[in-house]
Amino acid sequence: MPQRPRQESGPEPVFIGGRLWLDFVNTDDARLGVRVDTIASFEQFVRWLAAAHVIDAERAAALLRRAAEQPSGATAALVETRRVRAALRALVERGRSETAERVRDAALAEINRVLGRSVGTRRVESRADGGYVRSFVPVGDVFGGLVIPVVESAVDSLVNDELSRIHRCADRRCPRHFIDLTRSHTRRWCDMRTCGNRAKAQRSRQQGRRPSRA
Ligand SMILES: [Zn+2]
Repeated sequence: MPQRPRQESGPEPVFIGGRLWLDFVNTDDARLGVRVDTIASFEQFVRWLAAAHVIDAERAAALLRRAAEQPSGATAALVETRRVRAALRALVERGRSETAERVRDAALAEINRVLGRSVGTRRVESRADGGYVRSFVPVGDVFGGLVIPVVESAVDSLVNDELSRIHRCADRRCPRHFIDLTRSHTRRWCDMRTCGNRAKAQRSRQQGRRPSRA
């Protein structure tokens, strides 16, 4: 299969989670078992927000200009963004485990810390593809508000009791999470074109010969 050419701006993020906040968690990704961070810079974070339709191209361009003028503010926002991501990852990975209560409390504290700053204007806007998207225009700290829609998406999942339908990809080398929205609750792979396909190929190889005992 032909590979997409890599852009200079870094590896392409994937949008397979089924929820904005899961796609955000999945920016801390791996490709063929090697860890890849698709928001390793503030610029990449802004591009991710645009790719996720959280902001439009015009706003992304304005943010990038502002970041060039205020690099320390952009760096601080990136650190903050990753801190939120780590809390949300802990929530998806361990939110139902035996240490769940502690993990959930820590995630809620982090979510509420972000929501506490959410002073701004909420809007609904139509998209070019005919759909609609919620948007949030923060007042004051322009960079600090960027992660709010992501956090709100996590809040929606919590409120709608969706954690039990969120799973990690069945390929053990793959760190991606997704919500299983299949009626039969049988989604196992992040993406049938990558992990699902590899598993299928492996199964057919094993069916072709007796499985070796390791
Ligand atoms: Zn996978």
